[in-house]
Amino acid sequence: MDFDEFREFGHASIEFIINYLSGIRERDVLPSVAPYSVINQLPKEIPEKPEHWREVLKDLEHIILPGLTHWQSPYFNAFFPSSSSAGSIVGELLIAGIGVLGFSWICSPACTELEVVVMDWLAKFLKLPEHFQHASDGPGGGVIQGSASEAVLVAVLAAREQAVLSCKETHPELSESEVRGKLIAYSSDQSNSCIEKAGVLAAMPIKLLPADEDLILRGDTLRKAIEEDVAAGRIPVICIATLGTTGTCAYDDIESLADVCQASKVWLHVDAAYAGGGFALEECAELRRGLDRVDSLNFNLHKFMLVNFDCSAMWLRDANKVVDSFNVDRIYLKHKHEGQSQIPDFRHWQIPLGRRFRALKVWITFRTLGAEGLRNHVRKHIALAQQFESFVRNDSRFEMVAPQALGLVCFRPRGDNENTTQLLQRLMERKKIYMVKAEHAGRQFLRFAVCGMDAKPSDIEFAWTEIESQLTAQLAEKSLAEVARKPSNVSDLRQHFQMHLASDGGGTHEKSQ
Ligand code: PLP
Repeated sequence: MDFDEFREFGHASIEFIINYLSGIRERDVLPSVAPYSVINQLPKEIPEKPEHWREVLKDLEHIILPGLTHWQSPYFNAFFPSSSSAGSIVGELLIAGIGVLGFSWICSPACTELEVVVMDWLAKFLKLPEHFQHASDGPGGGVIQGSASEAVLVAVLAAREQAVLSCKETHPELSESEVRGKLIAYSSDQSNSCIEKAGVLAAMPIKLLPADEDLILRGDTLRKAIEEDVAAGRIPVICIATLGTTGTCAYDDIESLADVCQASKVWLHVDAAYAGGGFALEECAELRRGLDRVDSLNFNLHKFMLVNFDCSAMWLRDANKVVDSFNVDRIYLKHKHEGQSQIPDFRHWQIPLGRRFRALKVWITFRTLGAEGLRNHVRKHIALAQQFESFVRNDSRFEMVAPQALGLVCFRPRGDNENTTQLLQRLMERKKIYMVKAEHAGRQFLRFAVCGMDAKPSDIEFAWTEIESQLTAQLAEKSLAEVARKPSNVSDLRQHFQMHLASDGGGTHEKSQ
């Protein structure tokens, strides 16, 4: 492909994206395809001869798009948002166009230095403690990981290696494998699945402690677990707290957890994958309580900061603990500016060697929206969630399950779990909106998350009309079914009573029937 053709392809692709995004409300949010439909429409091998890009875009339109779930639709209300913006999309294109990798400073100095700058911008914007900035005097700093899962895993692995080091000093009688066999970590039973997975990958059990009735993990629970484990000869390593749990966006009590972690020399990591966006707002200042005492934290820009997937910010109070844990060198990776402050080699802060120039899309997003635009975005999601909550509260057939938090509302139709299951099933079959279920203490509920690239109050009204009208239909069908099950005329009644009399052995229960 020459540059002229590349230009044409590029322009057509941008047009394609604009048409897709501007018409996204016209599509059902969930696809209507059966399993294998995409596989069956595509050739089994790479085409031998090059094909024209127009043919590729045509297949994208006719084969791929029908098989998509539309994450950027405002009617996508499942999980948490996977945010995006024009600046970020163009940033992604430019990243691919420039095509550099930035695992060490010399590989592309601007790649590393822009990341240092945007991570410090973000730390200030989110009002994080100063020690998390590269520009601070201490060893702290931020890095962009691909996902919250990677950030959590990095924290877990680093904490594990630090614990092994210190244990070898305090217990020289133990072999390294004996030490490793005693390590133990903690999180709440409300934490994201990626935390349990980090434990599996790090070969270190993570105990999922029961959150309190209000779904919050507090220091007392952690203290008891640590005391029990220490008494049993285990070595506590890390606690992963959550600000904004996936189920209900509950906030663990960081202050009380920090008290316990500090006393027990346990690493405290905070997973704020979604709720970290709230740190930017004065009205959500409560959320930041205790962050000055944590060792590391992560926040997904791809959830709440208008940067498209993948982009997950991670900050460390002492980056040396990670760098020292993961430092594996080769002569071909060395350069003469290694080890200078503010010139990190980010390969030591992450799992892969290669790394994308994600800082570019962050920089472009931040500059094209400004801090004001980013704050407005978070505020808009909160306001839309409040709008949805007011619909729930004004309809006595529904109940709230947890307090509305940021852009998330957890609610259910009153009655047993079957009502919730059936309602969700109806909604999924109609494909107009997409939500998922969650469960706490045996009660199932629906999560309505404000998502989409440009959600509006009219979208919330659309979603609510869909939900409440489907409940109306469900309840009407249920009543009809009940009536159909009940005896409705004299001969039915006679038959009904006879059945009961027969099964009761001829007793005299007629009156109570
Ligand atoms: N932590 C929380 C609280 C989440 O809600 C999620 C995903 O929704 C994750 C972690 C995992 O995020 P990622 O897909 O970036 O690994």
